[in-house]
Amino acid sequence: MATKKMHAAVVEQFGKPLVLREWDIPTPGVGQIVVKTEACGVCHTDLHAADGDWPLKPTLPFIPGHEAIGLVAAVGAGVTLVKEGDRVGVPWLYSACGHCEYCLSAWETVCPDAQFGGYTKNGGFAEYILADPDYVAHIPKGLASTEAAPLICAGITTYKGIKQTEAKPGQWIAISGCGGLGHLGIQYAKAMGLLVCAVDIEDSKLALAKELGADLTVNPRHGDPGAAVKKGTDGGAHGVLITAPSLVAFKQGIGMVRRRGTCVLVGLPPGDFPVPLFDVVANCITIRGSFVGTREDMAESLDFAVKGKVKADIELQPLSAINDIFKRLEHGDVPARVVIDYSKTGQSTTRSTPAQELVHA
Ligand code: NAD
Ligand code: ZN
Ligand code: ZN
Repeated sequence: MATKKMHAAVVEQFGKPLVLREWDIPTPGVGQIVVKTEACGVCHTDLHAADGDWPLKPTLPFIPGHEAIGLVAAVGAGVTLVKEGDRVGVPWLYSACGHCEYCLSAWETVCPDAQFGGYTKNGGFAEYILADPDYVAHIPKGLASTEAAPLICAGITTYKGIKQTEAKPGQWIAISGCGGLGHLGIQYAKAMGLLVCAVDIEDSKLALAKELGADLTVNPRHGDPGAAVKKGTDGGAHGVLITAPSLVAFKQGIGMVRRRGTCVLVGLPPGDFPVPLFDVVANCITIRGSFVGTREDMAESLDFAVKGKVKADIELQPLSAINDIFKRLEHGDVPARVVIDYSKTGQSTTRSTPAQELVHA
């Protein structure tokens, strides 16, 4: 019997447009599930993946996408955790070994044997995805699939990153980069009782940041952002979260931190950035990397959305628009997050903005 085919957007060569083509629908092996994709967010990481930006490159050809939400369509032998029809998310942390020192201490995100959705495993820019039931996100009722999609990468990553700054309620956090990640980070930070300084080079992103509750906005194009943040926060932000996919933002971010504060690095532009060693040492500043979040962080970050504290600003597009979406993402022309809506086949666009709907604490 011939294998059934699905539509997928495939990276066949780094730095080239994705190829929209047919691909075999996967069948679940022992302990695996197949998810029928309903929605998948487009993260800047997908662009880095398709460009082959990072030292560890995916094997070509591959299907990107790690903000996929859908219904379990088939379960392999031995699967008991989920059943057909359950709604799950297939995230960046596709699987981990479950028994190394990191997995045992609930740091599965840094498991040396971790697999990554849409990177080392095929992802959600396809109508069906193979997944590991131990690592899927469980999507609560009351959240539409299109709304949940950005939360399983952009949401969890900023939520975890904010926790990693160790900023306390009433203290300042500066969030550099107010795109897909940052616009959710602002909402998590406000819901966690922090004062938020939003930093972006696009005034339109800062306008959205204000609508979402940012207390202060800074545009590095209009002067030294470190000085502006230090002035506006009376000495610097207790926590800084850098989501911008731009190396210059990292150097600038260190300049925004208060003495004894923590700067959490989340954005992943290729390359290195210089650290002003004297300032970091003499001011006892912590610089810390943060990589998505654990399954516990996932459940917590989704719960904020269920309670109406966080809502993604989404633009819905069909899979066929993927190359145009990538171009816009590269040029900073996506207002917040584009989500591929698998119920869409035409070219129409829908945007749903959260600002008026948020429940403020
Ligand atoms: P995005 O394109 O949606 O948003 C990026 C934002 O940064 C835009 O608003 C842009 O205007 C802004 N920006 C660009 N240059 C800037 C600068 N110099 N200063 C301030 N703002 C600037 O991207 P995204 O989907 O939010 O992803 C952002 C980055 O985070 C990417 O590098 C991505 O790979 C990375 N990422 C990391 C993790 C992790 O676990 N660490 C998870 C997801 C994404
Ligand atoms: Zn992502
Ligand atoms: Zn492990």
